[in-house]
Amino acid sequence: MPRKRATGDRPGLAHKNKSGWEILKGSLSDIESYNREYLRFLSQVKTEREAVEYIRDRAGKAAGLHLVENRGKAVAVCRKGAAPLKEGVRIVVAHIDSPRLDLKANPLYEDTDLAMLKTHYYGGIKKYQWLARPLALHGVLAKEDGSLVKVVMGEDPDDPCLTIEDLLPHLAANAQYSKKLSEAFQAEKLNIILGSRPDLRAKDNRVKEYILSLLHEKYGIVEQDFISADLEVVPAGPAREVGIDRSLVGGYGQDDRVCSWAAFAAVRDAKTPRYTSIALLMDKEEIGSEGNTGAKSVFIEEVLWELAGRFKEEVIPSRALFRSRAISGDANGALDPDYPEVHEKMNAARLGYGVCVTKFTGARGKVGSNEAHAEYMAYIRSLLNRAGIPWQTGELGKVDEGGGGTVAKFLAEYGMDIVDMGPALLSMHSPFELSSKVDTYSTYLAYRAFMEDK
Ligand code: MN
Ligand code: MN
Repeated sequence: MPRKRATGDRPGLAHKNKSGWEILKGSLSDIESYNREYLRFLSQVKTEREAVEYIRDRAGKAAGLHLVENRGKAVAVCRKGAAPLKEGVRIVVAHIDSPRLDLKANPLYEDTDLAMLKTHYYGGIKKYQWLARPLALHGVLAKEDGSLVKVVMGEDPDDPCLTIEDLLPHLAANAQYSKKLSEAFQAEKLNIILGSRPDLRAKDNRVKEYILSLLHEKYGIVEQDFISADLEVVPAGPAREVGIDRSLVGGYGQDDRVCSWAAFAAVRDAKTPRYTSIALLMDKEEIGSEGNTGAKSVFIEEVLWELAGRFKEEVIPSRALFRSRAISGDANGALDPDYPEVHEKMNAARLGYGVCVTKFTGARGKVGSNEAHAEYMAYIRSLLNRAGIPWQTGELGKVDEGGGGTVAKFLAEYGMDIVDMGPALLSMHSPFELSSKVDTYSTYLAYRAFMEDK
């Protein structure tokens, strides 16, 4: 008798993704309470500095966590494992910077009786999305005496906000409509409106003069202080539940605070891990992970030196890292119902189908990607299946449609195994990114299972 061929109808042979809502139908209240906490974080935290502060505060209230900070812009939150550090650690790395508009060193000027601020965008933005909407200013100015002036303006509903104006449609024919999108909106026109009222005692630049007097009164700063500042213009207002069924989270900076929060919550909640677990939250991913707070820096080595001191262990960080395992937590692009043509449907992640595992990233033939090995993918697959966590795989778009990268390759240089894993978003890199509540929760479950795995 010839053997019967396997078909998709035979249970266990064919592979089909299941909705996360179906798999986690018994955990609806856990999904809600996780996302309530996540929405609070997302609403309050709009910059890398604010993320470090928020997490420092929350970590202080949890038991058994060790924090290692890097210049207030990157942080490692660690939980000691039963095994010594030299046997390796478990790292979930994510980034806490997001695309935005930074202020230039000499930002303030007056034009047409308006006080304006010049910006230089940071990371991949679609410029038109930043026009004609309420914006907020977050950041610090460093004074010559070393003190820091903290600024958060435009978040409280009673606070004034900032904005960038856009051309009225009546007059946009030549300046915008007839141009290519990449030319219609120019970076040098992304100027912030800061005020319009003249200082009646001043001779000229009367609006700018009045703004300077207000800035001095409110923050004690002078114009030169803008030169030593990290000031970031971001969308104003809180994150929101989206949809009449409240199934989605909408807000700025979910790439990659969705993974950052999940990584922090996972290490906070992890029970008696065998290996020391680290949520490694990095800066500067959106501009290539450069600099001493980015993933290309030696910060992770410093974290291990520091932990060895606190745990009174001997460790050579590079050897421990070679024996380590990691997840690169980053957001992926979800299958877009309005632009399905940029995706290849069989390999696109969908909202609501759980955390997305991405074997490789890159562009033009995987270039610039850390590709996870088959053996490590098998380990991850088995981990997620054993724990009953909704998961899927996803590639960022069709082959040759574009592409992107993550920090995975920078940590892989130490020799650790690492794979990309995070939820898929709609409207990624926009001022109002969308995630599914079941995906954000699945991401947390996945990171926690990874940290707790023996
Ligand atoms: Mn990202
Ligand atoms: Mn990004």
